[in-house]
Amino acid sequence: MEIVRRTTNKLAKISPIHVIFQPELDSLERRAVMQTVASVTRIGRASEITIAEYPFDDIQRSIEAGLRASSAEGKLNAEAMLQLQTQGHYKVVVIRYPIYSGDQEVFGIAWPGLGAIISTGKLDMAPYELRQRELKKTTAHELGHVFGLISEARTDNITMSSGGKHCTNQCIMDELATYTYFCEPCTKDLIAYFKK
Ligand SMILES: [Zn+2]
Ligand SMILES: [Zn+2]
Repeated sequence: MEIVRRTTNKLAKISPIHVIFQPELDSLERRAVMQTVASVTRIGRASEITIAEYPFDDIQRSIEAGLRASSAEGKLNAEAMLQLQTQGHYKVVVIRYPIYSGDQEVFGIAWPGLGAIISTGKLDMAPYELRQRELKKTTAHELGHVFGLISEARTDNITMSSGGKHCTNQCIMDELATYTYFCEPCTKDLIAYFKK
């Protein structure tokens, strides 16, 4: 599972997206993420958003803070990453470290309107194809949250849990990111997010 954290300060909707990879991630993983980010902005009809890769150094200090705040070595307390310290751009961070929220290992954490951290840590032992597929799904799901899903206004086919508000349709925004696509109401809300 993954979780959504409330945020107070939000970026302008059409802000650049900075994608940051831990150096250990390979080129196919990077490409899978970059393609997914582009695809989600296209679905939201926000193709004017610029998407670019940025060096890991940019978040090194933030990662170190997350590692220090964790009780176990090599594990990252994502809550300690200070909401990614974004300044005028969305941040999508992809790391190998297992990430934790409290005691729970999660695939990702999203801060709506700011960015997300995605971990491949839980999938390290999985076959390559499965890892690629799950990485794409998690990326699309977390970006969905970053871009306002599930919207406040939405009351039908939703579920609320400690992980946040999710869709119960056949949709990538369901709690487990089961499907590979956004359902119609989620797609509409994604488009509406960038129109506002
Ligand atoms: Zn979610
Ligand atoms: Zn949906």
